[in-house]
Amino acid sequence: MVEAPLLLGAIEAGGTKFLCGIADRNGSVLAEARISTTTPDETLEAASAFFAENIARHGPLSAFSIGSFGPLSLNPIAPDYGSITSTPKAGWQDVDLLGHFRRTIDAPMALDTDVNCAAVGERLFGSGRGLDTFCYVTVGTGIGVGLLVGGAPHGGANHPEAGHIRLPRADGDHDFPGICPFHGDCLEGLACGPAMKARWGEAAETLSDDHPAWDIEADYLAGLCATLTYVVRPDRIILGGGVMDSHAMHARVRSALVAKLAGYDTSMRSLDMDDYVVAPTAGPSAGLTGAFAIAYRTATRQWPMHWAEAASGSLIASTDKELSNA
Ligand code: ZN
Repeated sequence: MVEAPLLLGAIEAGGTKFLCGIADRNGSVLAEARISTTTPDETLEAASAFFAENIARHGPLSAFSIGSFGPLSLNPIAPDYGSITSTPKAGWQDVDLLGHFRRTIDAPMALDTDVNCAAVGERLFGSGRGLDTFCYVTVGTGIGVGLLVGGAPHGGANHPEAGHIRLPRADGDHDFPGICPFHGDCLEGLACGPAMKARWGEAAETLSDDHPAWDIEADYLAGLCATLTYVVRPDRIILGGGVMDSHAMHARVRSALVAKLAGYDTSMRSLDMDDYVVAPTAGPSAGLTGAFAIAYRTATRQWPMHWAEAASGSLIASTDKELSNA
């Protein structure tokens, strides 16, 4: 039996770049482009031009999916559905992201957060393999939390915003007011990369190993992990992003988390922390991979689990190579 052609379009929309791609049913990338995030008009026009050119070359898309920075309006009955809403990114407030592509691409469309897409990518190719319920956290210019619940990205009235929870202040950190433009000292306001820079007067990556910044940071991230543990009861928490890349942060968060859970209930007491709080392993294009997977699911109602079984993950290998050359 010859399978019907399936052509997937996807974008990972980030604050510095839009990664755009076209892939086939096996997840092999046929074309991709990296477009700088400048003004909405310029960036969205360049992305549309990429898809128009590749649709002319490869044929119509079976589905199209975007994983984007937010906040986003994801409830289909909301009047601003498909828009980026109150982002601090200049010029991008109230941009009708999905509407722009609906005007230029004729295909079923899906939109989700960058972190939910990355979680889907981690489930296929990385640290979420074999799991149906886990959290994906990125700690960088902001703090984003993606949730896979029962094998699908979680969202209800809208997507979760767990990066903006409020936590007790860490020992030795009572004066810094935080930098979140909405909440001041919410988690993101206290613990994202720019918050560390604002508090300590230098970029996080230049702080020495024994600087108190790291234990304070670990305390806040462990507070997030404790909250996620109590609310979601995930099988794993994947902690990624630039701030997690150094200074044994995963080990620091694990030991702070054990202290915060305080031996509550046998299932939490018996958590293997090395296996519970881990780094992402699906590579830098996990977000684009996840967006492709969501496009696949939009077209077929199934997840492309066969991508993960394919030899050496052709999609990941292709996109990472392209990105490193870009
Ligand atoms: Zn906030």
